[in-house]
Amino acid sequence: MSTRELVESIYEQVRTRNAGEPEFHQAAAEVFDSLHVVLDRHPHYAEAGLIERLCEPERQIIFRVPWTDDRGAVHVNRGFRVQYNSVLGPYKGGLRFHPTVNLGIVKFLGFEQIFKNALTGLPIGGGKGGSDFDPKGRSEAEVMRFCQSFMTELHSHIGEHTDVPAGDIGVGGREIGFLFGQYKRLTNRYESGVLTGKGTGWGGSQVRREATGYGAAYFVNDMLQTHNRSLDGTRVVVSGSGNVAIYAIEKIQQLGGLVVACSDSSGYIVDSKGIDLEVLKDIKQVQRGRVSEYVDAHSHASFTADGSIWDVPCDVALPSATENELDDKAATALVKNGVNVVAEGANMPTTPAAIKVLREACVAFAPGKAANAGGVATSALEMQQNASRDSWAFQYTDDRLADIMGKIHSRAVETAEEFGMPGDYVHGANISGFITVADAMIAQGVI
Ligand code: GLU
Repeated sequence: MSTRELVESIYEQVRTRNAGEPEFHQAAAEVFDSLHVVLDRHPHYAEAGLIERLCEPERQIIFRVPWTDDRGAVHVNRGFRVQYNSVLGPYKGGLRFHPTVNLGIVKFLGFEQIFKNALTGLPIGGGKGGSDFDPKGRSEAEVMRFCQSFMTELHSHIGEHTDVPAGDIGVGGREIGFLFGQYKRLTNRYESGVLTGKGTGWGGSQVRREATGYGAAYFVNDMLQTHNRSLDGTRVVVSGSGNVAIYAIEKIQQLGGLVVACSDSSGYIVDSKGIDLEVLKDIKQVQRGRVSEYVDAHSHASFTADGSIWDVPCDVALPSATENELDDKAATALVKNGVNVVAEGANMPTTPAAIKVLREACVAFAPGKAANAGGVATSALEMQQNASRDSWAFQYTDDRLADIMGKIHSRAVETAEEFGMPGDYVHGANISGFITVADAMIAQGVI
């Protein structure tokens, strides 16, 4: 059997035994697409069921999350934690609270997280969790009761040396606070390292909140630098307006870039003078409102409810909202308007067909597992600070983040070159992450 046939047959097994999980199949297919070149050179990675083991989570926990709303009605949500792979360290990855969350979504995110975490070079395994709970429109008291109920089950499966959750879509500093409080109450332990993304006054790291967005901006700057360019003076579109998008915009602006558009599920705004971040932060972080309100403060800006943010001409695009938000039609529009760089701030926001369009047009494309690894990398820095009961200054932590992103960039570039695919960040990141995990799996035996 050729390596290509072998990889295809394992992929078929993965599809059949994980039926009805298209996002997981998509994430697996993307990694599998890079594997045959590795196996051609290093066939031992296919031995001892290594790839099959890598695709099967070490443990999957699904649980009931009952909670009572402000009117006294009882709701039942479903909670998940998929502990995917722990060869490099305790399971590490966020919790997502969003109505679209199901096992397939959590598995796709957990699978990606294994390689992303490996790429950071830090001692963290891969995991992910969440719930189909929709925080939108819920009061603070309802969110708190939900978080407490969620942690009542989760607490027996996590720990600073076991599994360290953090935030993702719908889970930010507020939710991490409620989750941490309940964990402490249930265990009677002040175990700072059990969750990351904590408040900076009680064990959280400086820069963690900003890290995913800042990291993506550093990564893009590194990509541009390989072509003797930088973000300075570059026109950028960032989709989304959550935690990743807001801090990507902030760092891009600090590096001299002009971010002209961003979005939320209601539509997108364009401000050709550059997004006013103070106004955007107030709308999204303080008022928890919609981006459409931006035009109330800036009448020269425009809001579009129906349409695609990817029709806005730009040099650099950062899809930073959610999975599969940038399809082949959007990619074609970006290419037509002369895009040079696309980097994923979100997890798997670009469809396989869109990646194909970008590849054919020679657009530099960075996958999320490399470009958005700054968030989880800074979580690992938070764990380091917790373990040593220390807290680092903002600038020091930001410098560490920039350094880590630079190393991830070089790893992806060098690996792509080594395997004969120069400039291909997808193969570079997949292969480099895979080899790190696979070597540790081989060393630790059949487990
Ligand atoms: N949810 C983030 C991610 O997708 C961060 C996870 C973490 O900090 O553990 O990587």
